Amino acid sequence: MTAPVLSVANLSKDFPLARGMLRREKLVVRAVSDITFELGRGETLAIVGESGCGKSTLGRSLLRLIEPTSGKVMLGRDNVTGMNTTQLRAARRRMQIIFQDPYGSLNPRMTVRETLAEPLLLHGLADPKTLEAKVNEILSLSGLSRFHAERYPHEFSGGQRQRVGIARALATRPELIVCDEPVSALDVSLQAQIVNLLQDLQQEFGLAYVFISHDLSVVRHIATRIAVMYLGRFVEEAPAETLFTTPLHPYTQSLIKAVPLPDPSVQRQQAELRGDMPSALAVPSGCAFHPRCPLATDLCRHSRPETRMIGDTRVACHHAEAGAAHATAQKIKPGKLDRRLAVLRAAKNEQASAPTDKRQETR
Ligand code: SF4
Repeated sequence: MTAPVLSVANLSKDFPLARGMLRREKLVVRAVSDITFELGRGETLAIVGESGCGKSTLGRSLLRLIEPTSGKVMLGRDNVTGMNTTQLRAARRRMQIIFQDPYGSLNPRMTVRETLAEPLLLHGLADPKTLEAKVNEILSLSGLSRFHAERYPHEFSGGQRQRVGIARALATRPELIVCDEPVSALDVSLQAQIVNLLQDLQQEFGLAYVFISHDLSVVRHIATRIAVMYLGRFVEEAPAETLFTTPLHPYTQSLIKAVPLPDPSVQRQQAELRGDMPSALAVPSGCAFHPRCPLATDLCRHSRPETRMIGDTRVACHHAEAGAAHATAQKIKPGKLDRRLAVLRAAKNEQASAPTDKRQETR
């Protein structure tokens, strides 16, 4: 039996803090708590949640860019959490990351050619004879041309810069890419181009993606499964369509209702989310979502719900069955998201029928 590309078991990340005049008050921020999931070849797990819920910390912990506090991460059959520095450096060839702002992660003094050549040489994937051909191949796969190779990061538009970020991630032919809000800073048409490029590359190379985003429309377009994160925990995880058609957790339902609509003439449903997400320094007792939940009971205030399976959904809610009924009564209409989705799909069809290279950016 083939091992999943990525297996994560009980992964947690704590940040110790010292507070007070003499910094004697010791606190622990539990940014990521007890996360477990598996991801197969060619699959995308989208992780969604409000800003500060811990999704980026989780993404970085998977690659050990941040050292996890506990738990286990397996890349294929290799234990990433047990690797020493040399082993980890070698494993980085197989797992890459794309950042929201590639500008911050690109060396402003290096041309695109130098940026792409660096990982190829570092991991022994090219020699001086094959280097140019390999760089040109990666540029072409990412929708860039040789003409872009001699440019510096500041000479690119936002969309092009993200393509450079993708090209760099792709250079080592990884099995896993963590995409950390890769399209959040782009406008809708560029988002569509980048998402479609990621999907094309996934189909071509069987890549596994962990796709971190706060944008449910984009996530619905690309995800195989979706995990909803709240204060460091997965509160619901389900196949993408199931999550949109039958959201069981009240938080998921609120997120779906709160999706901004691109058409100002369409009235938005009343979002139910009350207040802001509490600080990770003061996680509420029982179910952490209870101060904002319309279905909260005394049980919720005192007892933390364990994760359980309902159909093919993993959910952490005492009253998930009631939540599903509530969603039906409130007539959550994920169809409204389809307007945004339609823009993404139209762009993909346009690209597919274009006579020139379908991955080539139009602006
Ligand atoms: Fe709401 Fe209770 Fe479910 Fe938490 S456990 S989401 S408070 S119903």
